[in-house]
Amino acid sequence: MASNTKSKALFDSEEALMMVKELRVTFDCGKTRSYEWRISQLKAIIKLTEENEQQIYQALHSDLSKCETEAFVQEIAMLKNSCRIALKELKHWMTPEKVKTSIATFPSSAEIVSEPLGVVLVISAWNYPFLLSLDPVIGAIAAGNAVVLKPSEIAPATSSLLAKLLGDYLDNSCIKVVEGAVDETSALLQQKWDKIFYTGNGRVARIVMAAASKHLTPVVLELGGKSPVVVDSNINLKVATRRIIAGKWGSNNGQACISPDYIITTKDYAPKLVDALKTELEKFYGKNPLESKDLSRIVNSNHFNRLTKLLDDDKVSGKIVYGGEKDESKLKISPTVLLDVPRDSLIMNEEIFGPLLPILTVDKIEESFDVINSGSKPLAAYIFTNTKKLKEQFVMTISAGGLLAVHTLPFGGVGESGVGAYHGKFTFEAFSHKKAVLYRRFIGDAPVRYPPYTNTKMRL
Ligand code: NAD
Repeated sequence: MASNTKSKALFDSEEALMMVKELRVTFDCGKTRSYEWRISQLKAIIKLTEENEQQIYQALHSDLSKCETEAFVQEIAMLKNSCRIALKELKHWMTPEKVKTSIATFPSSAEIVSEPLGVVLVISAWNYPFLLSLDPVIGAIAAGNAVVLKPSEIAPATSSLLAKLLGDYLDNSCIKVVEGAVDETSALLQQKWDKIFYTGNGRVARIVMAAASKHLTPVVLELGGKSPVVVDSNINLKVATRRIIAGKWGSNNGQACISPDYIITTKDYAPKLVDALKTELEKFYGKNPLESKDLSRIVNSNHFNRLTKLLDDDKVSGKIVYGGEKDESKLKISPTVLLDVPRDSLIMNEEIFGPLLPILTVDKIEESFDVINSGSKPLAAYIFTNTKKLKEQFVMTISAGGLLAVHTLPFGGVGESGVGAYHGKFTFEAFSHKKAVLYRRFIGDAPVRYPPYTNTKMRL
């Protein structure tokens, strides 16, 4: 066990308190504030990733049977890219931003200084357990904080690898890992943090927010939701279908926060879309997708049973138009498409987070907007259309965390799908306080500002 890792049985709120105290002392010494320290830790994250790539693949395979290509593209490469952006931009991000001042303070100058928040907590989820743990940590370090990472116990191989690697490569006086589940997270949540960054579901997010409120600790909550895909009829169907498949089954077999949760299309177009999905799915994953090495398994039996329940709901009986096969011993469920599911079925009333894709149909594509807006605000929303007006209406009408994910855009939810955002510079900002600084000189101190006030002074 790494020196900075606490054993599950031992880690209680007293230990958590000691850990936070120790980190606060280190933070107060100013160690994490220097540009050089931040750069050294960011470089160490790249080094630990490059020198242990095979172990990371093995851990992700053990936790999710994630294939190497997906693990590389969606976790390792994205993580290294985040780190490289932070390394390249850090000086610029840390430089105070000069801003104009007003006549009321003339002569003066002003700037916005990004200062670290202090000691921060990152609680992460199991579906992209490597990326989602380290991506926020990169921002916390870049912004000059001391940080504790609590990876998800539901991806135990990656959790213990992270504890080992962060122990071996990073500065343990400022960066620590606590492994564990509810008890350990609860012990951590009882402490006073300067920021809590949580990725996971809305139920636990409420627990996190309640704990944070006791200390007025700000939070980022990266949650999920039912992310819709609107499919119009005037599109390149093959390209759209392939992108939907890549976003759904090619992203951890649907266990991704921004993967398409359901499709809305017109009654007339639905048969064409279903045919295209069948054709392309078979090309991607073969006739027996349960055997495909390119599809992740369901993470554990709880989630397998949860997904099975969605399919066993009487309201969707007879609605499967593709897939539906399961292998409980391997925790595998094949890509499954359902057509015309009722809106009051179970599958339409919770985030699916798995390989099931229901299609809803409407008479006119514009009706899809009302369907989406009648539910909670999703994390992501997508549209395939060639109609400019429909695209514009979609952007103006649909409230969602985002309409895509690249590092120059903030990534985060709205309403039930989350609070705050990160990626690229936004991660640095999530872990920084923007301090307003006004510099004034002794000269030019106009007496008009001071009592006794007169009508003449007021008019000046
Ligand atoms: P999870 O079960 O791994 O839980 C997340 C974290 O919460 C874990 O570290 C876990 O230990 C902790 N936790 C669980 N129960 C707790 C409790 N009672 N008290 C305190 N801490 C507790 O992950 P999950 O919630 O199943 O993740 C899936 C959800 O996360 C989905 O809703 C998905 O959309 C969302 N998600 C969002 C993003 C994003 O970036 N927005 C990314 C991935 C997943």
